[in-house]
Amino acid sequence: MKLRKSAATAAVVAALALTATACGGKEGSAGDKQKGPDTSGTKALSYDVKKDAKVDSPVFEAAKKRGKIVIGAKADQPFLGFQDQSTKEYSGFDIEIAKMIAADLGFSPKQIEWKTVDSGARETAVSKGDVDLMIGTYTMNDERKKQIDFAGPYFHAGASLLVRKDEKDIKGPETVRDKKVCSIVGSTPLQNIKKPKYGAKVSELSKYSECVAQLLNNQVDAVTTDDAILMGYAAQNEGKLKVVGEPFSDEPYGVGMKKGDAGLQKAVADAIKAHQDNGDYKKAYEATLGKSGSDYQDPPAFTDPK
Ligand code: GLU
Repeated sequence: MKLRKSAATAAVVAALALTATACGGKEGSAGDKQKGPDTSGTKALSYDVKKDAKVDSPVFEAAKKRGKIVIGAKADQPFLGFQDQSTKEYSGFDIEIAKMIAADLGFSPKQIEWKTVDSGARETAVSKGDVDLMIGTYTMNDERKKQIDFAGPYFHAGASLLVRKDEKDIKGPETVRDKKVCSIVGSTPLQNIKKPKYGAKVSELSKYSECVAQLLNNQVDAVTTDDAILMGYAAQNEGKLKVVGEPFSDEPYGVGMKKGDAGLQKAVADAIKAHQDNGDYKKAYEATLGKSGSDYQDPPAFTDPK
């Protein structure tokens, strides 16, 4: 009886807390903005760590010696690469991809050293050896391939636009003329939106979260980057932000690594393929990106290496 009563009390308290959260959400309290993505589903995911993994690669050998693999990740992309500021833990689809690769290379999640690397710093971080692998919404393109190699693509995104819920004029890239659009230094969608044909007034910041804050504060009219990233922000700011229009660029995501390490490139590609084939990839998708409303899509065919 006593138990029942306290359970009932707990339910009332929980309901009150939920109501309070809901109200806070509607009023746009600061607490609501800082709420992390729901990635509770990722707790059930785990990958068998390979014993005696062998890869003919200097980067792999150095990581093995050190007992840790250093992975560059994003920290401000809910459901893709996100760091909880209180627990310091990273979560999201790219983080799961990283854990799958690490496991096949013989590294447990505890043996991953995460480093947050913003878009504009990726090629330098990889080529200087600050990170062994870069896994963060990283579009494979010829320009970047002059400096680094990729394994992939493991996912296909496309540039889109994030606007405030009450926005009426912006419906796609052809409607941003004279509008203030924010994007990120060193990212492909920034290059895209700066094209004279769009006529947008572009502001360039270094973090996505800063662009989103400016959108919420009415300092800019839209944020442009990959749809997968924007869907995460829209889900985090339900009732305030929405994604509009069709994707207007191709953004195939790859794992970045030092140039010329063919052994590592093949090992990373093999790892991703193995986890696509055994169902881990789809489960990881559903526990992360799937929660932001993105429909599951079958992974694209690998180009690097074929
Ligand atoms: N995928 C695009 C890029 O690699 C945009 C996302 C990002 O900045 O990471 O530039």
